[in-house]
Amino acid sequence: MKKYRLLILLQLILTLSCSPFTASLESSGKVFEYLNRATQYENLTSFEIASSELGADILCYKLSKDNTPRPNFLLIGGIHGNERASTFFLVNYIDYLLVNSLDTQVSQLLENANLYFLPIANPDGFDRLRRNNSNNVDLNRNFSWAWSRINSTHGEQPFDQAESLAIKQLVEANNFSLILAFHTGQKCISFLWDYIGKEESKGSPATYSEEEFIANYLPEYPFISTIADNYESDVDEDSLFDEFYATLGYDWYPVFGSMQDWFYGEHGILNYTIEISNIQNSIVTGKEMENLFIFSQHHRALSNLLETGLTGLHCRITKDGLPIEARVLPLRAGSRGFSDPVEFETFSFSDKDGYLDIVLEEGEYNLLIEFEGQQYEVLNIDSRQFSDSYTLIEI
Ligand SMILES: [Zn+2]
Repeated sequence: MKKYRLLILLQLILTLSCSPFTASLESSGKVFEYLNRATQYENLTSFEIASSELGADILCYKLSKDNTPRPNFLLIGGIHGNERASTFFLVNYIDYLLVNSLDTQVSQLLENANLYFLPIANPDGFDRLRRNNSNNVDLNRNFSWAWSRINSTHGEQPFDQAESLAIKQLVEANNFSLILAFHTGQKCISFLWDYIGKEESKGSPATYSEEEFIANYLPEYPFISTIADNYESDVDEDSLFDEFYATLGYDWYPVFGSMQDWFYGEHGILNYTIEISNIQNSIVTGKEMENLFIFSQHHRALSNLLETGLTGLHCRITKDGLPIEARVLPLRAGSRGFSDPVEFETFSFSDKDGYLDIVLEEGEYNLLIEFEGQQYEVLNIDSRQFSDSYTLIEI
C-alpha cells in the first residue's frame, strides 16, 4: 500500500461529507444553469459559442483574472454525450478552482493562465445519453486531420456538424497553447498521434522505428510522453489501484479525424485525451460516489499538468513595430537547423495582437517565422515558465 492511500481515504470521507454535488444535473440546460450561478464569482464568465444540431446552447466558460495577455488553456468535456462523468469532473474542477482561489497552486495558475472550459461539447448527446450527436455522427471523428469516411458515423465531410464546427471556430478565435479533452470508458491518458503509430503498434499500416517516428512524425515525442507519464504517476498516487496508464493514441486504437490530431497537426497545440473512468454510460442518479472518486484521483494531476503547460515559448512578434499573425516553427538550437528542417513541420501561430505561446520544455530554441511569404530566422529564444511578460521579437 502506498503511503498516500490512508490520506486518500481520509480525503474521500471529508469530500463526501461536504460535497456540493450534482444530484440534479441531468440535462445540459441544468448543468449550464448550475455553472451560470457560479458566474457570480467575478473571475468566471460564460459565453455562447454556437447552437447544437437540435438548437441547444453550447456554452463556454472562461476563468480569468483580467484582460492581461497570458497563455490560454482549454478543457473539453462531453464530446461523447454518454460520457457524462467527463462533464461532471469539469464542473467539480471549476468549483474547486473558485473555492480554493487562495491555494498557492490555484492562485499561481490563475495568475498566469486563462482557463476556458467547454463542459458539454455535445449537448444533444448529453441530453439523450448517447455517444454521437443527433445526426449519429461521432464528433471526435469529424475533424479534418487524417479524416476518413471509413464509417458513416464520421460525417459526410469534416466539420459538417454544428458541434465540431463550433470547436474549430472556438480554437481558431483563441490562441490556445494547451487543450485537454476528457472522456470515460477507460482509465488512461493518450497523446499524439491517433492516426499513425510506432513500430510496435498493432496493425500499423506503415511502421517506423522510434527514431524515425520522432524525426518524421512527432519531434517532441519524448517531452510529450513525459508529461503523460507524470499525469499517470500523479493519478496512481491518488488512487487505491494502479489502473491508470499513459499511451500513444494509435497504440490504444487507431482513430481517423480526431480532435487530438487536428489540434496539433493543424495548429501546433499540445493536447491530451484523458479517460477518467471505466464506467462509460454515466448517469447522475446513484453515481455521485463515482464522481467523487474521479475528482479525488484527478484534480491534483490536472493542476500539475496545467502548471507544466505554463512552460514554453512566450513571445510577442512585431514587424515595423506592429503586431503580426505569423506562422512559427520552433527549432531546437544547435540540433535541428533552419537549413535542415524536419520532414514533418508543426507550425504554431501568433494571434492578431502578435502573442504566441507554445508549450515546450525549457531550453533555447531558434524560431522559423513565416509572414506574408517571407521567412525569418530568429536565434536563441528561451523557453521558460510564464510570469506575466512576453519576449518581444521584431522581425
Ligand atoms: Zn469518449
